[in-house]
Amino acid sequence: MALSETEVARWSRQLLLPGMGEASQELLRGARVRVTGGGLATAPAIYYLAAAGVGTIWIEDSDPVTPGCGAGFALGPEDEGRAKGAALVEFGRWASGFLAADPYRAGSRPTALVVCGSSLDVSRAIADEARLLRLPHVVADVDGQGGAVTTVPVGSPCYSCGSRPGLGAAPTAEGGAAMGALAALELVLLLTGASTEPRARRIEVFRGTPLVRATARQAGCACAGPAAAGLAP
Ligand SMILES: [Zn+2]
Repeated sequence: MALSETEVARWSRQLLLPGMGEASQELLRGARVRVTGGGLATAPAIYYLAAAGVGTIWIEDSDPVTPGCGAGFALGPEDEGRAKGAALVEFGRWASGFLAADPYRAGSRPTALVVCGSSLDVSRAIADEARLLRLPHVVADVDGQGGAVTTVPVGSPCYSCGSRPGLGAAPTAEGGAAMGALAALELVLLLTGASTEPRARRIEVFRGTPLVRATARQAGCACAGPAAAGLAP
């Protein structure tokens, strides 16, 4: 369905960007993105996905709201102690009147995932689940005031293959805001086909310096199996 006049007016500036256009905006509107993992990048990712015009976001977070988890703008002190998932659903609905934000329901089939893990192990487990379901995903790792974002199109080297040691610093709200925004941008580029090569890539931002590198499959990794060849599951 074509964009309405209201939708064209809402995204008029974005529609002018190279690689974007009404067809791309329609793809974003039709996308169902599962945002999960419980990390500090979650709230910023929701905000920027909503701002870009993603139509549906399914939020999964069973932790309580803690100081800093809302990146200083999504959730405030008044939300502390609430269930973060429910608070973020409210935040998503506030962020855009064009967005359907709901809790994720097990078994629902998203178009793609944004994985904002509270730890590398959490991210690895969710990314592996997405790989086996043949769903494109973007993983945000928060590391100090920066971190890394790994983009995994279907059949590409997996998150584990693309991961590299970072600083190992304690995550900060600032790092969460930066990596959440970057993860949302990477997913928008992936969903619309506007990505530049390499599409399977890892963007690292440590000490303020961004570095983009193509990910490569590690010898013997399970991601080289039938799923990568398009045969399973
Ligand atoms: Zn792999």
